[in-house]
Amino acid sequence: MMLLQCEHVTRKYQKSAGSFTAVRQVDFCVHSGDFISIIGKSGSGKSTLLNMAAGLLRPTSGKILFEGNDLAAMDARAMAHLRNSRLGYIPQGLSLLANLNALDNVRLPHFLQKHEGNGVSRAQELLEQVGLRGKENSYPAELSGGEVKRVAIARALMNEPLLLLADEPTGDIDVETTQGIMDLFSTICRDGTAILMATHDLDNVGYGNRLFQMSSGSLTEEKLSEKGRL
Ligand code: ADP
Ligand code: MG
Repeated sequence: MMLLQCEHVTRKYQKSAGSFTAVRQVDFCVHSGDFISIIGKSGSGKSTLLNMAAGLLRPTSGKILFEGNDLAAMDARAMAHLRNSRLGYIPQGLSLLANLNALDNVRLPHFLQKHEGNGVSRAQELLEQVGLRGKENSYPAELSGGEVKRVAIARALMNEPLLLLADEPTGDIDVETTQGIMDLFSTICRDGTAILMATHDLDNVGYGNRLFQMSSGSLTEEKLSEKGRL
């Protein structure tokens, strides 16, 4: 099943020197079952592309469709519903709410839409899966950078998304925990969540079934066996 479709997607930013093209004529599709890694140098446009796929940023030109629906044609309410019910998004930067503890940060998506129950047991299970058992009551300021990132991963999975958009999900995370996170991604992918992940950790690439390379805003699909090339 086709989930995400990008057609000739371009994004320009206005800079003092004029306009700068961060993403250039990008075409690709994500199908259910896919676990895609996007590699590329810092500044090549990976975060810009993921932000557009998440509906947080509009393309300057081109189209993005989710399950056949054009994101540009959705009103704010439809977009919020899609983002909360179908998409999981792990932003590159810090994104937790400082005044909520880890458990409540993970449970947040549960409350943005009508759901049964209070979400506590699912949130606890997810925190355990990302290696944060016992940290339920800790506030973001009391967690390390890597722990904060893992809470954001658990939060993105809370509503069992069809597509997980993960922007450098293992930045700031030690090797051992990184492997645990990648194993978790493999499991959730098998269980029906497709994954589109930007990463500069080449070891992560082997967990996926497809590999893209981003370079100066252009995206090309690579053979997975070439992963060591960068
Ligand atoms: P990556 O995630 O691959 O490091 P980004 O998508 O963050 O790349 O950035 C791509 C390029 O776009 C960079 O040169 C960056 O400076 C520029 N850029 C990103 N966001 C903005 C913005 N809001 N305004 C202007 N330029 C931006
Ligand atoms: Mg980035």
